[in-house]
This record gives sequence, C-alpha cells and structure tokens, in this order.
Amino acid sequence: MAEHEYDVVVSGAGMVGAAFAALLATTEHGKNLRIAVLEARPFVMPDLSKSFDPRVVALTALSRKLLEDTGAWEQIAARRVCPYQRMEVWEADGTGHIEFDCAEVRQPSLGHIVENALVVEALWQRLEALENVTLLCPATVVDLDRQPEGVAISLADGSVINTKLLAAADGAQSKVRELCGLQLRQWEYGHHAIVTTVTTEKNHDFTARQRFLPEGPLAFLPLQTETGDCHQCSIVWSQQADVAEQLMALDDDAFCETLTRAGENCLGNVVAVDKRYKIPLKQRHAVDYVVPGVALMGDAAHTIHPLAGQGVNLGFQDVIVLVEEVERAVSRGLSPGDMWALGRYQRRRKPHNLGTMAVMEGFKRLFEKQPLPVRLLRNDGMNTVNRLGPIKNLMVRQAMGLL
Ligand SMILES: Cc1cc2nc3c(=O)[nH]c(=O)nc-3n(C[C@H](O)[C@H](O)[C@H](O)COP(=O)(O)OP(=O)(O)OC[C@H]3O[C@@H](n4cnc5c(N)ncnc54)[C@H](O)[C@@H]3O)c2cc1C
Repeated sequence: MAEHEYDVVVSGAGMVGAAFAALLATTEHGKNLRIAVLEARPFVMPDLSKSFDPRVVALTALSRKLLEDTGAWEQIAARRVCPYQRMEVWEADGTGHIEFDCAEVRQPSLGHIVENALVVEALWQRLEALENVTLLCPATVVDLDRQPEGVAISLADGSVINTKLLAAADGAQSKVRELCGLQLRQWEYGHHAIVTTVTTEKNHDFTARQRFLPEGPLAFLPLQTETGDCHQCSIVWSQQADVAEQLMALDDDAFCETLTRAGENCLGNVVAVDKRYKIPLKQRHAVDYVVPGVALMGDAAHTIHPLAGQGVNLGFQDVIVLVEEVERAVSRGLSPGDMWALGRYQRRRKPHNLGTMAVMEGFKRLFEKQPLPVRLLRNDGMNTVNRLGPIKNLMVRQAMGLL
C-alpha cells in the first residue's frame, strides 16, 4: 500500500466520526482494515477543571453501549457523567404534566448526561491507541475525485489520500455532502437555542426537566461534579430568534431571574450562570446518504431539534449500522465501500431517522401557540398518558433505545 492509501477514511472526528473509526477498527474484519481519520480542527481540549462544557448530550442506553464497545465509556464515566433517573415534562400553558421514572422500566437510569468534549477526548485517546488507525489533524477535506474503484480525497495542505470508503461525519455543514452533490431538505425552526451551565438553589435529584413554553421548550439537564455536587444543570432554552437575542443581552443577574421564572422555580432560584452561547436550530435531512464509495453519518446526514435530545443518539445508530454493513461486506470478500453494503446502510437508517424527525416536528408544533381546544386536548393527552403505565413504558423504552 502506498503511504496515502487507506481502506476506510473518516472525515470529521466529532463524536460520530470518532466513534465509527474506534468501533470499526476493533471488529473481527475491521481490525484488518487500514483506517485514517481526518479532522479539520486542531485538537485542543478545553480546560474543564473549573467548569462544565456548555455543550452536553443526553445519551440513551444504546449510545452508552456503543461507547462501551469502543472502549471510551470507562474513561468518560471515570471523569464525569450524570445519570438521570427521572424525567419531568410539563407545559406552561395549562396543567399537562408527565413523569418518567427508571424504576417503571426496571433500569438503573433513563440515560446519562455527558459533556461533548469529554466524549470526544475519550474517543480520540482510543483512536490514538489503535494500531490500524491513523489520526490526521489538522486535515481539512477540500475536494474529492470519485472513481469506480474508490475516492481520491484532496486535503487543504495539497496532499491526496485514496480510499475505498469515505465515511463522512463532518457535521451539519458537511463539505463531503456538498462535493458529492447530495441534495439536502432543510427548513428553519425559527428557533435559537441558548446553552449554558447554571447553578440552582435546590439539588436536581438526578431528574431531567423540560417545560414547554409557547415560544419553545426549556430543558434543565442535571450535571454532577467529580465530588458529587448536584446543584448544576446544563440548560437548553429554545426561543424565537429575536427573544433569544434579548435574553443573550441581559446581564447575569437579570438572566438568572428570567430563567428562574421561565422554569417555574422548579429548582428554586437560579443563582449563577456561566458564559452563554446561542445556536441557530435548523432541521436538515439528506435525500440520499450514499453515493458509490461515500456514506454520510450523523449531523452530515441529518440534524434535528434538540427538544428530545435525539441528535447524536441517531448519529450513533448510523455508526452501529454502517459498521455492521462494512463488516458484512468485508467478510464476503467485497470492498468496504461496496455499493451493496452502502445501499443496505441507507435502507436501514433513513426510515428510522425520518420517522424520529417527523415525531419531533409534531411535538414542536403541538406545543407551539395553539387555539384553546388544542391546548385542552394536549393537557388531557399528557395527563392521560401519564396514567397509562404500559403506553408510558413503551415510550420510555423507545426513547432509551431499548426497543
Ligand atoms: C443545543 C443542542 C443540544 C443538543 N442536545 C442533544 C442531546 O441531548 N442528545 C443528543 O443525542 N443530541 C443532542 N444534540 C445534537 C448533537 O450535539 C449532534 O447531533 C452531534 O454533536 C453531532 O455530532 P457529529 O459528530 O455528527 O458532528 P460534529 O460534532 O459537528 O463533528 C463534525 C466534525 O467534522 C469536522 N469537519 C468539518 N468539516 C471538515 C472537513 N472539511 N474536513 C475534515 N473535518 C471536518 C469538524 O471540525 C468536527 O469536528 C444537541 C444539539 C444542539 C445544537
């Protein structure tokens, strides 16, 4: 093999790309593949000794299992994670209220809140330890030449890498998606998410809370320090763009006061807030995930409103399925980028991703400003589901990735 030839190249070493490379590199046939991972950003780990990463995700049991299989979970758990055992969802515009408890589905938790930076750091350390993986960073994909036998990838530094499969996990603005001419359906939610870490008067008691306001949902995701302190939460506050702008302009005291009111004092007063970030929210879905020699994964293939915390969980399911299909192709003597395998990957993932996106869109619309009869029905519906054990359990198991 020439120096710049690999069986599989992954563009983007965020959570999805790094997890794909780490999992594939250790499967029965994957461990014989030469894998390169290209990441545009220099890897600089933020100093998280005194604060939490403002970007966190709620991981399902299935996503945790994937991270266990990559060997990264042990390190993440040893550093800092917060299991959540209960979830409370209620609406501002009525009496609708629903609660989920892990005991109802006989699980130790409903999921884990983890900081994005800690997940990426642990996965990168795994990649560095794997002999058949080469991590190239910073390395930015700028062009592609797709040939019947594979793909030639041009990097910003002028070098060229040849591969049989390019697995693109280069995020929502995917360069690979653009270079392959893969069409995107997208629409604005009209929402911006304000994310930050807050300190609250009361202990969060390992409960994730979400209040649906007519302008958008507000989530308090529980965090836990290394010493076990439970007075901090990561918030995701989705708001109309102009309102989000006004909230960003408030000083810390006024922001804490406004947030306390918006969350109905569910954790007492919000007493401190870290630096705030505002992220525009957009729904995107690639019409096709694959072309010969190339497959999209994670945010490169789909982005979704964070209201149910499903984005990276869907991306991790793409990872599991693409690894299975590449493994199956290689075990039959086919190329890892064989179109039969890529077609199967697309057929298995697209309906599931699309279905989840449709349900989330439905939820978002349902909780937007609605006429009184819809609001009454919504209240009633939530309270009824809350009383119906089997239906509620089914919803929880589905959301946890247990089905
Ligand atoms: C406010 C908010 C809250 C969220 N909460 C949740 C949650 O609770 N649960 C959940 O499941 N999901 C959640 N999500 C979604 C989740 O954060 C994303 O789905 C996830 O981060 C996407 O990971 P990724 O690896 O696909 O993409 P990214 O994290 O965007 O990684 C892409 C990588 O590719 C690199 N790259 C880009 N271009 C190139 C190039 N040309 N060449 C080489 N490398 C390149 C980038 O530098 C980057 O490192 C949330 C999202 C938001 C906005």
